[in-house]
Amino acid sequence: MITTIHHTLKTVFGFHRFRAPQQEVIERVVAGEDVFLVMPTGGGKSLCYQIPALHRDGVAIVVSPLIALMKDQVDALQDNGVRAACLNSSLTSDEARQVFRQMRNNELDLLYVAPERLLLPDFLETLSTLQLALFAIDEAHCISQWGHDFRPDYVKLGQLRSAFPHVPIVAMTATADPETRKDIVSQLGIGQATVFVAGFDRPNITYTVLPKHKPFVQLAGFLKGRNDEAGIIYALSRKRVEQIAGQLTQAGFSAAAYHAGLSDKERSRVQNAFRRDDLRIVVATVAFGMGIDKPNVRFVVHYDMPKSVESYYQETGRAGRDGLPSEALMLFGMGDVMTARSLIENSDNAERVRIEIQKLNAMVAYGEALTCRRRALLSYFGDQRDHDCDNCDICTDPPQRFDASKQAQKALSCVFRVGERFGVRHVIEVLRGAKSQRISDLRHHELSTYGIGADQSALEWENIFRQLIHLGYLVQDFTRYGVLGLSPAARPVLKGETEVILGLPRAAIKPEAKAKRRGGAVDALHQGLFDRLRTLRKQVADAANVPPFVVFSDATLLEMALSRPRDERELLAVTGVGEHKMRKYGAAFLSVVSGQDAGFDWKPDKAA
Ligand code: ADP
Ligand code: ZN
Repeated sequence: MITTIHHTLKTVFGFHRFRAPQQEVIERVVAGEDVFLVMPTGGGKSLCYQIPALHRDGVAIVVSPLIALMKDQVDALQDNGVRAACLNSSLTSDEARQVFRQMRNNELDLLYVAPERLLLPDFLETLSTLQLALFAIDEAHCISQWGHDFRPDYVKLGQLRSAFPHVPIVAMTATADPETRKDIVSQLGIGQATVFVAGFDRPNITYTVLPKHKPFVQLAGFLKGRNDEAGIIYALSRKRVEQIAGQLTQAGFSAAAYHAGLSDKERSRVQNAFRRDDLRIVVATVAFGMGIDKPNVRFVVHYDMPKSVESYYQETGRAGRDGLPSEALMLFGMGDVMTARSLIENSDNAERVRIEIQKLNAMVAYGEALTCRRRALLSYFGDQRDHDCDNCDICTDPPQRFDASKQAQKALSCVFRVGERFGVRHVIEVLRGAKSQRISDLRHHELSTYGIGADQSALEWENIFRQLIHLGYLVQDFTRYGVLGLSPAARPVLKGETEVILGLPRAAIKPEAKAKRRGGAVDALHQGLFDRLRTLRKQVADAANVPPFVVFSDATLLEMALSRPRDERELLAVTGVGEHKMRKYGAAFLSVVSGQDAGFDWKPDKAA
């Protein structure tokens, strides 16, 4: 059996080896057992049900909430020579009838359906007359109220175990939190399932946080060094999304806005153009989320701070599903913290507010971290690492430390002088000796600390305050507009008994930052061939009306550019080239590699 699933891995999918824990999962499912699989985005969950589908009799039913993605999955499987189809509201009734016919004639290995369709009594009835290979439940966290994406339709999936007691269930999610996981298993009634939890690390993503300062300039600087790479920019409001997209377009970038306020038509236009590599940058609210399976997203920028570490990790996780080097950049400013907090506090559910404020605080702490970002992130998910990652801004460029005892004394005593009744912004204004009506109304210009910090910029002070809060010298009362108070730890500082060592703020992205970046996905030597292969892929994909990543992933093209296969045998050795794709596209890609492709014109009718 093992050789067989390896054989399928190689000949159908073109991969050479399983990633942990694919092999064990597949063996268990092939043997008819239930499995619950927790694996990060890009980890390779799909194979865990696709290979068993090919090794068990009957059709595998794949439940997914993402109708928009079903077609890609089906196209990709068909491109590998697998008999797959989907059934959802986007089909005409003729097309749907055709799928039913295939199903009855035992002509399908996999069928993708939306949960609401699966649970129609008629459909369940039909299924009960068929041989079923397995049920795969994608995005299984949607069944849990604890999860971040609860869908009422999913709850009824609990019926499957009792209605089809002999059909194995594979439930999959990328959700980290243990409460949700327990809930999924119990709701689905798969208490017997073997649980596989793969690590949450995404080692190919470089995490960077920059203090937000003239964010658009920072963004443009970041994008300039990344010609041709696709990415997502998240911002908090629709208005801001529109504004950034407009500014980017004006500056000559290929960019478009995406948010829930746009028409369905415009949203699917943007999503499709992005998937097809016709659009480089999507500026979006969180509404641009689960529908993205594009594997070659090279960067995710958070223009505004997300509400929680969970959302941040999920959103940054959309970068680099193909495993190639990718980046996550967050612009982090105190103003955002205030905005996020006031949004949360608008709710009148006190318990909810309390939880969300805690989550927000954790997010802020991440932004302020002066320690390895990856360790901070993974430890948030209970995955403690004892080594720095060497692939985040803190590791590659540790902050310079300085003795900030004097500044800390000034800051703390100013907080004290204003009666512990004001937030960061006001205290900084007093320190810097600002002349405003409010200050004179409050007579804060008469305080002994007025103007004693005029030698430092507001930005420098902001950074100092941030760290003083982070290190616990100051307490920020989130229930009272972020009013600052002194903690017991402040006392020895004020008395000059303790040193305070802080990190120096990072400057806005400098042009040199580009040189310093970890090599992009492709080095200069191979860029030319990689680009030509990409052009061919785009032609092939357009002719077949599928997104380019369905034809070959960036990782596959990169491997081709590096290994320069000369014949079919060598091409088959490239990861991601299975036998079916080899027959279909082999000649065209080989001729580009050999440089014999002058004026090569892809003719779809040449395809197998
Ligand atoms: P997930 O559903 O967990 O987000 P996917 O199943 O889409 O992840 O897989 C992510 C990427 O990894 C895809 O491009 C897939 O082709 C690739 N992949 C999966 N398993 C392997 C493997 N064993 N070897 C090489 N590439 C793999
Ligand atoms: Zn690190």
